[in-house]
Amino acid sequence: MKCKRCNNSDKDKFYKWNGSWYCRNCIRFGKVEVNQEIIPPDLTSNQIDTSYVLDYELTNEQQELMEEIDSRIHEKPMLIYAACGAGKTETTMEQISNYIREGKKVGYAISRRQVVLEIAERLSHAFKEVKVTPVCAGYTTEVDGDIIVCTMHQLHRYHQTFDLLIMDEIDAFPYEGNVILQSLAQNACRGELLLLTATPNEQLKEQVRKNEINQVTLFKRHHGHPLVVPKILCMPKVVQYLFLMYLCLKHKDKKWIIFLPTIAQVQQVFHAMKYLCKCSNITSKSEDKEQVMEDLRCGKIQVVFATTILERGITIAGVNVCIVGAEHQVYKESSLIQMVGRVGRKREYPSGYAYILASKKTKEMKQCVQTIKWMNQDHSNV
Ligand SMILES: [Zn+2]
Repeated sequence: MKCKRCNNSDKDKFYKWNGSWYCRNCIRFGKVEVNQEIIPPDLTSNQIDTSYVLDYELTNEQQELMEEIDSRIHEKPMLIYAACGAGKTETTMEQISNYIREGKKVGYAISRRQVVLEIAERLSHAFKEVKVTPVCAGYTTEVDGDIIVCTMHQLHRYHQTFDLLIMDEIDAFPYEGNVILQSLAQNACRGELLLLTATPNEQLKEQVRKNEINQVTLFKRHHGHPLVVPKILCMPKVVQYLFLMYLCLKHKDKKWIIFLPTIAQVQQVFHAMKYLCKCSNITSKSEDKEQVMEDLRCGKIQVVFATTILERGITIAGVNVCIVGAEHQVYKESSLIQMVGRVGRKREYPSGYAYILASKKTKEMKQCVQTIKWMNQDHSNV
């Protein structure tokens, strides 16, 4: 017995009902019987102008990367390993354009809902004549488009649909380690697969070593400035909070995202600091995330206290970052790199402050600094 949607063949995960077996493994996406053929959705494809415009000129590195993607995309799945803020989404646009021009379907899947909306916005800004449809919680009435940007969860709608499937931040929660989502993704793609990340996990590195997937790299940011190397400062907890107060008061003209390891700490520090500066907080429990980010963007507030929920996919011009209590176990090397990677993404603000405050220096912190320094080296001969 095998489920054609999620590839499950574990018989303990099949249940008999009304004389037929169905798969419990992927039941949250609707009931599917064993051996039931999954019918791909009936989607349209249009003859349209697939040219795109970017707000900046691509760098030589980006151009070269695009050419390399173009020449090798048909070989096997390809991993684009690019630094935070290197412009990896842009390097996929040439392929997106080519596929749509041929009347093919393009999917762009990413873990977080917020980032779905941001990417959809960026793509529709670039592709003026192309219909870009975001599909995620709250956006499910329209599920067809020339480019479908969706959360990993929504891939269940697109069985055998995409000729080009781009999967962004594949090392992020909830995709990483989630076998069901991975099978849905596999089954949604009937053509080529592009995988994007700034922090590949061991599994991906292993696949590259075994030559199961191709890898291309882009470590130079599009504005040419190096990645910001964080300063690690070791001090007792109490002093860390004093340092925070000092930062917010001294740099009243600057924007900050202050990361704390737990929701309780975010709320505590926010309540203590709200009399000192214009600030707000974001955790997985916040319902006004988008509003808070907008307030930070437009300068209505100066500081956002947040959990790792903001570590990825967020671009705020001129933002600085401080990570408090960084020895906490939630902070893996990849989270630290992602959080620090929020700094200096925009051409107008290519640099900024990145502090890691901890009571002791951990292996993860050292690796984070090492990896960022390594990315900043000249890789042109590699
Ligand atoms: Zn299933």
